[in-house]
Amino acid sequence: MSKVALITGGSRGIGRGIAEYLHEKGFSVAITSRREADEDAQGKFLCIVADNASAEARQRAVDETLARFGRIDILVNNAGIAPRVRADLLDMGEDSMHELLDVNLVGPFFLTQLVARHMIQQGSGTIINITSMSANVVSVNRGEYCVSKAGLSMMTQLFAVRLAEYGIPVYEIRPGIIATDMTSKVKDKYDALIEGGITPIKRWGYPEDIAKAVYALSQDLLPFSTGEIINVDGGFHLQRL
Ligand code: NAP
Repeated sequence: MSKVALITGGSRGIGRGIAEYLHEKGFSVAITSRREADEDAQGKFLCIVADNASAEARQRAVDETLARFGRIDILVNNAGIAPRVRADLLDMGEDSMHELLDVNLVGPFFLTQLVARHMIQQGSGTIINITSMSANVVSVNRGEYCVSKAGLSMMTQLFAVRLAEYGIPVYEIRPGIIATDMTSKVKDKYDALIEGGITPIKRWGYPEDIAKAVYALSQDLLPFSTGEIINVDGGFHLQRL
């Protein structure tokens, strides 16, 4: 029987990379996105139009995945947004903070709650949260993003502890600079930083780099570990002198 993965924000970027990789590895894959996924995705995955900020849509995503596949083995909380405008901390609007927290933190929190209840009944499962190096690196022109990712990192620890007794591990994957639509607007900035050596492994990361980490964690090969942070950032997090 193939394992079933539910991946939020799977129509593009990192989520799409994870969906493609798990599909190649024989998983049954369900993805969500706000807009309809392309035809190629529709042919391979169960594609659910569901805004992760909506409680009704999250419930529907779980129900549709269970109706099609009967179980959820891996939940990947990947859907996330950057601020519409990179505003200085002293100017940032309250709306932007609410929008980012709703999509990047409140949505994943309550989707995890729903799926965790199901995984407990099922007797197994793995939960993976895609945070960001911004969980602990300060960018004063997108503070709401940093706060949302720091919250998601704490959420990983909370659910890791709560679900440990049920044998359900919860992990955090912390990506660095990854080539997707999200970073395309700041490509020149990151090209220069990478060229200047900001990452010991001197290249952009790609969605497949994150996908391989998700696949590794989905293999039940870390049975005495939960709540771990897996940095997929070319070594960016290492302090250097
Ligand atoms: P992306 O290229 O902008 O893709 C985002 C995906 O999420 C799309 O499929 C999008 O589809 C979906 N999505 C956005 N808002 C959604 C919502 N409210 N409900 C459901 N789906 C939603 O972004 P990405 O770079 O792949 O980022 C994926 C995750 O990795 C995010 O959590 C991001 O914060 C994190 N991350 C990215 C980087 C990076 O360098 N790219 C680094 C660190 C962490 P629709 O637009 O159709 O909804």
